[in-house]
Amino acid sequence: MSQPTKFLLDESRMPRDWYNIAADLPVPLPPPLHPGTLQPIGPADLAPLFPMELILQEVSTERTIPIPEPVREVFRLWRPSPLVRAHRLEKVLGTPAKIYYKYEGVSPAGSHKPNTAVPQAWYNAQAGVKKLSTETGAGQWGSSLAFAGALFKLEVKVFQVRVSFDQKPYRRALMETYGATCVASPSEETNAGRAILAQNPKHPGSLGIAISEAVEVAATNDDTKYALGSVLNHVLMHQTIIGQEAMLQFEMAGDDPDVIVGCTGGGSNFAGIAFPFIGQQLRGGKKRRIVAVEPAACPSLTRGKYAYDFGDTSHLTPLVKMHTLGSTFTPPGFHAGGLRYHGMAPLVSHLHQLKLIEATSYKQNACFEAGVLFARSEGIVPAPEANHAVKGAIEEALRCKREGRSEVILFNLCGHGHFDMSAYMAFHAGQLVDQPYDEAELAMALSGLPSVPA
Ligand SMILES: *Cc1c(COP(=O)(O)O)cnc(C)c1O
Repeated sequence: MSQPTKFLLDESRMPRDWYNIAADLPVPLPPPLHPGTLQPIGPADLAPLFPMELILQEVSTERTIPIPEPVREVFRLWRPSPLVRAHRLEKVLGTPAKIYYKYEGVSPAGSHKPNTAVPQAWYNAQAGVKKLSTETGAGQWGSSLAFAGALFKLEVKVFQVRVSFDQKPYRRALMETYGATCVASPSEETNAGRAILAQNPKHPGSLGIAISEAVEVAATNDDTKYALGSVLNHVLMHQTIIGQEAMLQFEMAGDDPDVIVGCTGGGSNFAGIAFPFIGQQLRGGKKRRIVAVEPAACPSLTRGKYAYDFGDTSHLTPLVKMHTLGSTFTPPGFHAGGLRYHGMAPLVSHLHQLKLIEATSYKQNACFEAGVLFARSEGIVPAPEANHAVKGAIEEALRCKREGRSEVILFNLCGHGHFDMSAYMAFHAGQLVDQPYDEAELAMALSGLPSVPA
């Protein structure tokens, strides 16, 4: 193999700014609305939950925002992350396409999530906040915020969705190793949790419920703020360091991607790899295909409605316009816990509505097959969420084979699966079920969308 495999950027070339796609949007993003008045909310409405610097980033239309030096210093622990050419996967597939992946599993928590956990913790610490409350599904976000909290001396409380709290004791151990406190959600600690448990003491939990609990704790405690690991504009912006690095690494490789693939739960790792490239296109540069891959069992972009909805189950959050399955929708159990959210980031939804990105969905067994093929050719065992991106990239490579095209494919390998081996064990044992979501439940959840006059 004479062609290079790994493209490593020197630390000195790590991006100094985040990229804010709001500056380049052809149509502005619909504003978040106050659920009572249905009027656009202002920065003051968010002040109980977030420090002002992050709120200003949330509403900013500046194209670039500098990454604070103390944050870049932490990033040097694992960034710049590698861009890798998947020569062996190409060979196994027999495709004329070139496949590259950006590997975010090199972070301490094993995913892209520390890219936003670290700046969020830093801005909170700068604002004098002492405690952070948050939710976690699979445990990736909880462990990332726990890590960041440890660095900046913040207490972190994590409401972990009950099913993954029970299924993934190692993620909890990791959070506790970093010093965080972990509570199964729904819990007895909040009004939101107690209300759910009163209806169903064995409720398996959902991200929407865990968000309600974490928001309630922040809203009712002066020394506590809330941190969200995806969906919000500032979170997506923090992830753009991924795509900006990839651009520099493609210069080193002498290539340029034609197709970019990412998996979408709330949309942040997808935004991170794709937005810098979409921005280039919006400013008159090359047009690429950008493909979001979601699970067939929780298909917000491909089956949801583009409408104003709540971000949580107990309706404590503002209304945001997004692709949603309805805030009361609970997807069936599947192993990509990070992709079980009822909504999608407003920015990703908006770009889909403007036809600047495509979306597709796959069932979990097909995604695990792709992940195992990847592990057996490239060596890395992907997170179950990342398997959706692997599957999407493989499908693109096979299309190139059928069409005899040597396109360049880039995908975001957003995390490793070392804490998800029980899911791989179930797959190897033939025990993974492709359980469809309940159409009647989806219809009911969608019929309950808040009505917002156009
Ligand atoms: C959390 C998580 C996701 C889903 O969140 P996004 O905001 O859509 O990126 C995907 N992959 C991994 C590895 C995660 O930890």
